[in-house]
Formats: sequence, C-alpha cells, structure tokens
Amino acid sequence: MHQEPTYHIGMDLGGTNLRWALYRRHRGIMTLETADRAPLEDHEPQAVCTRMAECVAPLREKYSVNAVGIGVAGMLSSDSKTILRAPNLNWTDFPLVDVLGAKLGLPVYLLNDLSAITWGEYHYAHHEHGLKESFLVVYLGTGIGGGMIFRGDLLTGHNGVAGEIGHTKVVFDESARLCGCGKRGCIEAYLGGKNFIAWMNEELAAEVPPSTALSSRHGALHPGIVDAMARAYDSFSLSIIERTSLMLGSVLANAVTLMDPGVLLLGGTVWENAPLLRELTLKHYSELVNPLAEATVVSSALGDDAGIWGAAHWAACQEPTL
Ligand SMILES: [Zn+2]
Repeated sequence: MHQEPTYHIGMDLGGTNLRWALYRRHRGIMTLETADRAPLEDHEPQAVCTRMAECVAPLREKYSVNAVGIGVAGMLSSDSKTILRAPNLNWTDFPLVDVLGAKLGLPVYLLNDLSAITWGEYHYAHHEHGLKESFLVVYLGTGIGGGMIFRGDLLTGHNGVAGEIGHTKVVFDESARLCGCGKRGCIEAYLGGKNFIAWMNEELAAEVPPSTALSSRHGALHPGIVDAMARAYDSFSLSIIERTSLMLGSVLANAVTLMDPGVLLLGGTVWENAPLLRELTLKHYSELVNPLAEATVVSSALGDDAGIWGAAHWAACQEPTL
C-alpha cells in the first residue's frame, strides 16, 4: 500500500534555549530533516509562544507539518495540556497546548522533558535492538528527573507527575537541605548540579579543617571537579562522592526494586562527568537492589537529541491516522 510521508516538529523548551527539529516519518521510520536552536531571553509565556511560532514558521513554508511535540522541564496537568510548574521559566498554571495550538493552527502535544527523553531513547532502542518492553531512565543534570515506559506505555501517573525521582528523600535529620520543591532532604537538593555547588560551599565553610585543595579553587564546584579531586585522594572530596554515591545508588536500587524495568538508562551532565561517582553508585546499586529485579544498566544512545526526537515521535504517535 502506498503511504505518504508525514512531518512532525519536536521542540525542547528550556530555560535558556529553545531547540527544535523537523522529522520526516515514513513507514514508521523517523529521519531528521533539519534542526536549529535560538536563545530564549523573554520568559513571559505569551512572548515564548510567539517566539516558538516564529521559529517554526520557515519550516511550515516548506513542509506540510502535521503536529508539534514539546518537551519542557516542569510538572504538567494530568491531561498534559497545562504546565503547572516550570521553575526554569518561572511559569505556573500556563495552558501551553491551547495557547500555542491556537497560534499555530496545529495539534500540539506536551511532555515533561524527561518523559520526552525516555520516549525517544526507548523507541530508538526498541527499533535498533528490539528492546525489552519496560525501561527506566534517570538523568542527572541541573536537576534530577526520571521517566518510565511500562510494557510500551509511558507512565505519567494519576496526577501526571510520575517519574519525579529527584524528589525522593535521602536525608531525614534536621540537617536535610531545602529543595526547590519546598520539601527537605530530596536527592536533587544534593546531587542536582545547581544545588550541588551551593551545598559544596556550605560544606567547605563548615569543614574543620577544610579541604585546602578545593577551598583554593576559583569558580563553581561542579560535581565533575569534586569527582576529579576525589580521584586525586582529596579526603573531603572523597567523602562527598562516597556519600552522594550511596544516596544515588540507594534511590536507583529502590526504584528498580519497585518497578522491575529490565533496563535502566542513566545519563545527564553530572552522570557523564563524574566517573568515580558512577563507579561507586553502580556498586551500591548492585548491592542494594532486589537481585531478581536487577536491571541492565545502559547509557544514552541519542544524547542531547533524545528529548527533541522523543517529542516529535510522541506527536506522531498521537495522530489518529497513523
Ligand atoms: Zn524536592
């Protein structure tokens, strides 16, 4: 049977950049046509929608676009039409799907950024390697997020906020750090890239004697720097990496014990830049997980493009004719 190709746009709506790509889908195979990015200076919601429409306008002159999929770092309503909370954009309760959909005159489908990454990585791996039916993704970057596919379906949860693994608790005493979500003791308050830097400054100020190696460094103390110092046997840095690897290893082991996903994909800048943290986390994970549920650990296959690819693929999958 003859089948015409269809065109779908995937977008990543971040706090500093807007990234997008156009994909051609034919006989179930998605191929990249073109991709671009633009800085996002004005975060006012209507201005962002106008900017998004401007960015995709040249593509629509050339291609007959069917739908737009968007991944955004934030919590969504259960119908995935409204952004309830997006701290990077400073948005609350903004109905992006309806506003942008009306502006574009196209169907718009919204996903949490980690759900878009998870959907992208899962479908890529599924096509390439005949992947198992369930899949857990955990990303450690500025924040910590997760996504899960269960038997081919994206798990979004009753309220649409499943996968917020960064807000699982790892510290319970009065020292527990305050997280951006308003609660104390979340793993994101320690290992989220932004919070990690603030935490290091607090710990260094309190340490007696302080780590002279770290104290004398200029600039932000990213996890990769502390990991490198730990590998050079700086005792303060080593204690931080040991502590955080136990936090992360136990969070991953608990999630896998609960969900039994078969495959655990780990990624994000913090994960990629901290080899000792990776090694010790995986050691703790293996020790703590239910051995009957232990998942195969894999790395990202799509890298930075996973979210955009996933958002476009998600939009294509929502089309009733496909
Ligand atoms: Zn939190």
